[in-house]
Amino acid sequence: MPELPEVETTRRGLAPHLEGRRIETVRLRRPDLRWPIAPEITTLLPGQRIQSIERRAKYLLLHTAAGRALIHLGMSGALRVLDPRVPAGAHDHYELLLDSGRALRYTDPRRFGCLLWQAPGTLHPLLAGLGPEPLGPDFDGDHLWRRARGRQAPVKVFLMDQTVVVGVGNIYAAEALFAAGIHPLRAAGRIARERYAALAAAVRAVLGHAIRRGGTTLRDFISPDGLPGYFEQELNVYGRVGQPCRRCGAPIRLLRLGQRSSCYCPHCQR
Ligand SMILES: [Zn+2]
Repeated sequence: MPELPEVETTRRGLAPHLEGRRIETVRLRRPDLRWPIAPEITTLLPGQRIQSIERRAKYLLLHTAAGRALIHLGMSGALRVLDPRVPAGAHDHYELLLDSGRALRYTDPRRFGCLLWQAPGTLHPLLAGLGPEPLGPDFDGDHLWRRARGRQAPVKVFLMDQTVVVGVGNIYAAEALFAAGIHPLRAAGRIARERYAALAAAVRAVLGHAIRRGGTTLRDFISPDGLPGYFEQELNVYGRVGQPCRRCGAPIRLLRLGQRSSCYCPHCQR
């Protein structure tokens, strides 16, 4: 599933191809993805110039004077800029033809993505109530500490709560908790302020690193099979059950947390 770093990498890769370009035609190959494609995509978007491409949480927003196209990649979605003469495959669901002669094409085998619309001056319900961006100025240890007051939930669940901070998925939560030395089951409300400062710094470092790694595959976005890779070889706990901790050598353990599994070092994380 594309996580925040992949979505940000996608945004950075697409921006030079999209910003300032006029959308000449919209081609839909089906009427819906996870939800029906917003009617404004075909009625208002053609003829509009893309002013900028923004990321909010794991959504991408194409800003135009008429409104914003709101894109989510779902579980398996990918956007590519390519020559529109490249034949569309069975999983290519829509494309925007640009005045540059190229096309922005969306591929999604599982179709959990979406293509919605946000009118000027409004906030789409999917974007309402979201916490701050983890790499933005409103996210720090004090923010986490304040939001954690009175919370009995395990800190890993708290950290993945999109109303607390957006875009910290399972991999990045596990890695950030390891880096900060915090046990994933510790009650969120019982963690000291300075440990939250370390955790916020770890979240930024882990996500920032993943984005920089993604940056090395930017050229793939204009090739037909470009999907950014994770940085598996650099993970410390995620997916490493039974393997020795890179810091202390103790075997990495697995615990169940709701529907998810969580890897941690029983020695380094308290
Ligand atoms: Zn360890």
